[in-house]
Amino acid sequence: MFPTTEQIEVAAYHLWERRARLHGCDRQDWEAAEKELIYNLNYGPVREYGLLVPVPQVLGNQAVRHCRLCERDSKRARFGPPSPVFPTVPNLSLLTAQICAECQHECRDPLAEDLARFWDSLRSADALGDTGVKRRTNRGFSLGAYKSLVASALLIMPDREISYFLDTIEWVGNSDRDADHHLFAGASCRVYLTADRPHIPAASLARRIDEDALLPYMIMFLSYEGIIVQIHLPLCSKDEDLEGGQVPLPERLFGWGYGRSVEYAHSTLMPLAAPGDVGRSQGRRSFAECT
Ligand SMILES: [Zn+2]
Repeated sequence: MFPTTEQIEVAAYHLWERRARLHGCDRQDWEAAEKELIYNLNYGPVREYGLLVPVPQVLGNQAVRHCRLCERDSKRARFGPPSPVFPTVPNLSLLTAQICAECQHECRDPLAEDLARFWDSLRSADALGDTGVKRRTNRGFSLGAYKSLVASALLIMPDREISYFLDTIEWVGNSDRDADHHLFAGASCRVYLTADRPHIPAASLARRIDEDALLPYMIMFLSYEGIIVQIHLPLCSKDEDLEGGQVPLPERLFGWGYGRSVEYAHSTLMPLAAPGDVGRSQGRRSFAECT
């Protein structure tokens, strides 16, 4: 669903008011309004978690635990202590009890290093601005980093959505890191740099609410250290109409400030690196062992 001209006019007017009615940014505000409207008309929130809350939150910490990847429960599989949902930021306060020890060891731990390397490359790019993003990070978005983020998204997903992602779970649960690379030839993530205006660390899922829109069904945002990464959750049964082409990632408007200090985050589409383009260790160390 696309916004009407009248809807964009109203939204752009509100952005202009936020600028204390200062002139000179009409085109920027119009484009920002259109972008945010396209997102808001087509997506609704599913889940959002703060990642720096005083009391750690443990997802799925029930008497009988269920693994999101292999579907075994704690009567049939061994479960270790709750593990970070986002292994690249292990000191944060969102944990999950919904992954068995075997899946954690075989499917999650080996990818933590890929994700840590990707995030490190974004930190370097942040310091260098847009040019840095293009020069230094196109090689960082590896299939392993993507898979790790998708697994995290599955771990925060409400039960009612899981049935649309059975193929996704099968892919994430496959410990062969190079399997199915061809399926993701057109995949990208979107990276927003908020420079010296870090957002509160958070992770959120949103889903398409317009059934007819040719947009991906579910997307995740991970915000940490002033960097926001947006991914599409692949292999969803609700995305069959999107097969065969690149998935368009809807862009959000992240802005801050008032009056003359209004700014919008710059975003960059980052394609998935081809196999062999990402220099990575073949080791299987966990993030904790790397630090
Ligand atoms: Zn398992």
